[in-house]
Amino acid sequence: MALKITADCTNCFACETVCPNDAISQADIFTIDPSKCTECVGFFNTPQCVDVCNVACIIDDASHVESESELLAKAQKLHPKEKFPTPPPSRFRK
Ligand code: SF4
Repeated sequence: MALKITADCTNCFACETVCPNDAISQADIFTIDPSKCTECVGFFNTPQCVDVCNVACIIDDASHVESESELLAKAQKLHPKEKFPTPPPSRFRK
């Protein structure tokens, strides 16, 4: 599923630069575009924005539930020139 940023965000900019999908942008606080967030599937084993967030304000977005295969398909659609492994590498999140 896509992730989302809560109101605890401090606008530190750490997450924006690490997203492989350019899914993060700044509004009042930073926000994640669920149509672009793949939980970093296809690129990394862990969501990079979560890894760099200093206040742990990036959480699962339960309104955008997707399987790992669906996330990989989204990554492929966003990056048509990339060749992603099939099946995707195993993930370490629950
Ligand atoms: Fe971007 Fe990955 Fe965070 Fe999704 S989980 S917003 S793809 S850095």
